Amino acid sequence: PQRPDGHGQDVLATWRQRNAPNRPLTHLRVLVTGGAGFIGSHLVDRLMEEGHDVILLDSLFTGTKTNFKKWLGHPNFEWVRHDVTEPYYAEVDRIYHLACPASPVHYKYNAIKTLKTNFLGTMNMLGLAKRTGARFLLASTSEVYGDPEVHPQVEEYFGNVNCIGVRSCYDEGKRAAETMAFDYHRQHGVDIRVVRIFNTYGPRMVENDGRVVSNFVGQAIKGEPLTIYGDGLQTRSFCYCGDLIEGIVRMMESSHTGPFNLGNPGEFTMVELAEHVRRLMNKDVEIKYLPATPDDPMKRQPNIDKAMKYLDWEPKVSLEEGLKYMIEDFRTRIEARNAANAA
Ligand code: NAD
Ligand code: UDP
Ligand code: UDP
Repeated sequence: PQRPDGHGQDVLATWRQRNAPNRPLTHLRVLVTGGAGFIGSHLVDRLMEEGHDVILLDSLFTGTKTNFKKWLGHPNFEWVRHDVTEPYYAEVDRIYHLACPASPVHYKYNAIKTLKTNFLGTMNMLGLAKRTGARFLLASTSEVYGDPEVHPQVEEYFGNVNCIGVRSCYDEGKRAAETMAFDYHRQHGVDIRVVRIFNTYGPRMVENDGRVVSNFVGQAIKGEPLTIYGDGLQTRSFCYCGDLIEGIVRMMESSHTGPFNLGNPGEFTMVELAEHVRRLMNKDVEIKYLPATPDDPMKRQPNIDKAMKYLDWEPKVSLEEGLKYMIEDFRTRIEARNAANAA
């Protein structure tokens, strides 16, 4: 039953979902794709702590079992090793779609696969949302703004992206994913939410993922020089993962489609970040300048007026405080590994 305005599917799917024979009344059935990764696993913790029924779906391309081992055996928890580029069927109320490598090193490793994950993976999860009537949230990225000419970036800005560069599999992949989400919304009435996440850091980042915060912290622990690419005057804004999770969950439970920026507006050059890490960890560690990477955006800072206004959200954890949590986590992991190697 398709209404001329295209919203018939939505009404039917929502009716089916609300009236499903075995649907729990006290909690939600939540699917988290990419739930074994850095952000996904923190989100899974939050949803499990709230008492929801959680399906963690992940191919373990960059995620690990260690990130969710504490939930194994819990009656509300289920994990599925699955690649989102293949169809997946389950009856759920919410889909947090995070599956996609996020570090430039990881997403460039197999660029075609990154594109497929963004395109086919998002299509499959939107197909699932359309069939079940589940609400769908896309974890998009500040990279949709490319190397921005508008600063700070507002959601209305269309971006400045190279469609044939080495970062395009990710940037254009996410742009296509956003397009698809809005087309499923307009054409099939799928209930969507889109957040554009800016650089996020914290415990459980992969140590050698090549992202700047993990590189600097890992290097400082090992007493190696901090590597700055280019002149180090490019800027980023770093959001602590706990703050981000709060924003993502608020967005999902809000009545807005977005896209909304989620990030910390504090803007730092890479030189400033290196100085922070030195001060907190090891004053004697050196700084080494390496060639700039291609298509590296020169500036990035979110305008978060919309998230503040509509979600009543803003980041609370300062870079200094967040770095301390992350340093503690990296130290524990590196020491545990060294101990295991020595034994
Ligand atoms: P991550 O690499 O730690 O996590 C991604 C997870 O997705 C991993 O567990 C990985 O195994 C899984 N995955 C990748 N391809 C898959 C596939 N085809 N099928 C199933 N699972 C797959 O990265 P993250 O930092 O946690 O990022 C999570 C999401 O947030 C991504 O969509 C990313 O684009 C977005 N994001 C992250 C940041 C950031 O700073 N961390 C910024 C902007 C957007
Ligand atoms: N899909 C899925 N799980 C579902 C429903 C659909 O993985 O529960 C996939 C399905 O394989 C399809 C994609 O989602 O390729 C898009 O679904 P849609 O219904 O839009 O496409 P259609 O089936 O009409 O081609
Ligand atoms: N960067 C750096 N040293 C490193 C890793 C990254 O100077 O060891 C720079 C990189 O060139 C970029 C910024 O830090 O300008 C952020 O890089 P990251 O890969 O963390 O995130 P993204 O480029 O996706 O924002």
